[in-house]
Amino acid sequence: MDQVEDFRKEAHKLVNWMADYLANIEQYPVKPSLEPGEVYQALPDQAPEQGEDFSQIFHDFQKIILPGMTHWQHPSFFSYFPANSSFPSLLGEMLTATMGAQCMIWDTSPAAAELEEKVMDWLKPLCGIPSHWAGVIQDTASTATLCAILTAREKASTYQINQKGFGSQTYRLYCSSETHSSIEKAAKIAGIGQENVVKIAVDHNLALLPEELDKAIIQDQEAGRIPLIVVATVGTTGTTALDPVRPIGEICQKHGIFYHIDAAYAGSAAILPEKRAMLDGIELADAYLFNPHKWLFTNFDCTAYFVKEPQALVRTFEILPEYLKTESQGVKNYRDWGIPLGRRFRALKLWFVLRSYGVEGLKAKLRHHVELAASLAKEIDAHPEFEMMAPLILNLVCFRFHPPNLPNEDHESLNQLNEQLLKEINQSGQAYLSHTKIRENYILRVAIGQTHVSHKHVHALWKLILKTQKKLANF
Ligand code: PLP
Repeated sequence: MDQVEDFRKEAHKLVNWMADYLANIEQYPVKPSLEPGEVYQALPDQAPEQGEDFSQIFHDFQKIILPGMTHWQHPSFFSYFPANSSFPSLLGEMLTATMGAQCMIWDTSPAAAELEEKVMDWLKPLCGIPSHWAGVIQDTASTATLCAILTAREKASTYQINQKGFGSQTYRLYCSSETHSSIEKAAKIAGIGQENVVKIAVDHNLALLPEELDKAIIQDQEAGRIPLIVVATVGTTGTTALDPVRPIGEICQKHGIFYHIDAAYAGSAAILPEKRAMLDGIELADAYLFNPHKWLFTNFDCTAYFVKEPQALVRTFEILPEYLKTESQGVKNYRDWGIPLGRRFRALKLWFVLRSYGVEGLKAKLRHHVELAASLAKEIDAHPEFEMMAPLILNLVCFRFHPPNLPNEDHESLNQLNEQLLKEINQSGQAYLSHTKIRENYILRVAIGQTHVSHKHVHALWKLILKTQKKLANF
């Protein structure tokens, strides 16, 4: 297909297919059941010598690819954290793909750079981020955290590691034992070393214990190690536990340590005034991230990364080969605000979402999700054979099946039972949940954040859980 008229014809058909797909998404199993290698084997061993007709390509997409997809936009997708999208976001992605701009510097697409600056400015008052900070869109939370660690490393070494590499110093990173694996991964990549990631103990709510953090920092200082950065999590992956932002910030200030906050999932909820308290003390931090691509209806990928000192971020990353020199003054060249040179135009979809829903529309949707989670938690609490396993903070329900004949100490039987429950629910194709382990206990996670999830879906899930539990209880 090389002619614009052919593209027009196919694109019209495709948009119709896309609308039908989304209208009928509940007819698909949320999670496909197929054997590893099935899709790979169904595809030819070599790329075609001659171009093929688009209708044939699309036919194969429907026949081979679609049945092997997990439907993340299905309202009964309750697994992991959602990567929810929305109609305005999808339209934004279509335009981004159509223009195919590479937005590495202001000159390569001035409107993209300036829209990015504007939407990041819009997010600040909406999401409780200090007004004097600066924002930039990164692809993922993992990348944004890596940027924070590298900035901390460079500030601590007066930008010498960038120039000369590591000396003999040992740098230390602190986070809780519940922190996402992306923090450890970033510590590996940044040369800090996995062994220098200090996991601080948590309280009964799985939130980092500030006094333990303080002790660990002092111990390291006494041993001649350099405390580099603390990463707090607002909304842990396992249970959405909230590390105490202000007490951690005060410890960072006392010791002069870089402070980064990872609110990848929960950060979207900061648009709700009643949830804003979770960020109390954010002004003590140096960097903060959250993912509109998780719970703010903006297609993956889109991470909002905010920093107190943009000059430190830029100084960490800037590099200026001759071919990127331009005469434009006083502009933002976002290539220096992160790791890759090339950048997608991600601000467009976020702009469409913010304008299309409006702040009130977004708040209403998030509140609805929080209410749905509360209604499921109520059912669980009221049932004698189920128990909540972590406090309900936002919209993630953590629970397990616990028949009265099995004592608490019988971890193995309880874990096996719940593993089986999860397996059967997911195999049904009617819903998709995930799990975690907290203090040896296997726990089921239900994240209620799909764009179009409603009471009907949560009710159907509860019925499915009960039906599956009865089946297991009869064995
Ligand atoms: N941080 C937290 C708290 C998360 O829950 C996740 C993913 O679920 C991440 C970071 C990683 O997100 P990303 O896929 O955007 O790198």
